[in-house]
Amino acid sequence: MSHTSNLENAAPGTKIVGAGRRKEWTGPVVNPPVWRASTHLYENTAALAEGPRHNEDGRFFYGRRGAPTQWALSEALTQLEPGAAGTVLYASGVAAIAGALLTVLKPGDVVLISDNAYDPSRSMGKGLLSDFGIEPRFFDPLDIPAYEALFCERTRAVLLEAPGSLSMEVCDLPELARIARAKGAVSVLDNTWAGPLGFQALEKGIDITLMALTKHVGGHSDLMMGSASAGPELYAKLRERAQQLGTVVSPDDAALALRGLRTLHLRLQQETESALAIAQWLSQRPEVAQVFCPMLPGAPGHDLWKRDFTGGCGLFSFAFKGGDAAARNRFVDALSLFGLGFSWGGYESLALPVDPGNYRSCMVWPPKPAAPADRFGVRLAIGLEDTGDLIADIEQALGAWSAA
Ligand SMILES: *Cc1c(COP(=O)(O)O)cnc(C)c1O
Repeated sequence: MSHTSNLENAAPGTKIVGAGRRKEWTGPVVNPPVWRASTHLYENTAALAEGPRHNEDGRFFYGRRGAPTQWALSEALTQLEPGAAGTVLYASGVAAIAGALLTVLKPGDVVLISDNAYDPSRSMGKGLLSDFGIEPRFFDPLDIPAYEALFCERTRAVLLEAPGSLSMEVCDLPELARIARAKGAVSVLDNTWAGPLGFQALEKGIDITLMALTKHVGGHSDLMMGSASAGPELYAKLRERAQQLGTVVSPDDAALALRGLRTLHLRLQQETESALAIAQWLSQRPEVAQVFCPMLPGAPGHDLWKRDFTGGCGLFSFAFKGGDAAARNRFVDALSLFGLGFSWGGYESLALPVDPGNYRSCMVWPPKPAAPADRFGVRLAIGLEDTGDLIADIEQALGAWSAA
């Protein structure tokens, strides 16, 4: 029996369990073994001579093109992404962003970068891409006329991300992608937050969809990886560029990512439910000015989230009503169930002091009509701990915020 047949129309849980489990890769066991391989051996000189003539997925050649462990992960991600012809794996989420942009851009081109993109994406525009003669221009994804006016003859790509990094507002992704396509530019979406279960990017008009697998797909804070999925034409280009850049991921990490993937839908469901309850609770607190959680009715972009997304996750932010950085830091330091660190998407909760205004060229933080004083933010990544325990922990830490 093939595990991967009839997955196309299956519900997310069924797809996640079956995806990528080709019998020829798993053998008689449930998961594909970890194929550690640089050299792939050939039967004879005729087979060796034939080797370089074929460059297709799922074909042995040499370690840099992977082996069944990486192929299984890549195929699983492709099966989860409606409209995808294939998925390239990268050493990290940032490597996936660089890999995709270096596929669709060349010297002299202009790339439009969402002003609320992940900061390393912004830095990539100002550093790597600028160094290679590609001009980055930042735009406010909530101001569609201004975005449309920013396109020029040389605009070849648009980098989108939703919800926005740290500030968590949702923009009109289908409309931004539609305009990019009409202007002859490739839209690239960093879809790490929702993933393919929460936002079916290619079906919504995005050309290339990326994820930091480091976050929810890995899911256990123990690996770094990224992915880019696209339809046939762009997938072929991504794959070719990745081969030219020497991109490869370790089979051990691919096996870990596959293991994480199998519970993705359950973890996301639990996180989303818990995050929404905590966001609702926070929005009632006198210490809190605003909660930036796409799933929360009334939060910035909630209506677009509801229209376009089929799921969420545990990552959201809030801003204190006044106070200062020291009070905000007292709150973070007083938390006991939340780790303090970058990243998110693991099984454990994390908190991070955030000042999105430091990472914006044209968007305003805090967003209007918030008072400028209400700018000290905290980003929470809600993990799988008990929701009531997390709320109790936040409540006692709010006491430390108030204690001047
Ligand atoms: C973490 C993150 C990345 C980068 O992923 P790494 O694997 O850490 O390089 C990219 N985009 C978003 C939205 C992220 O949160």
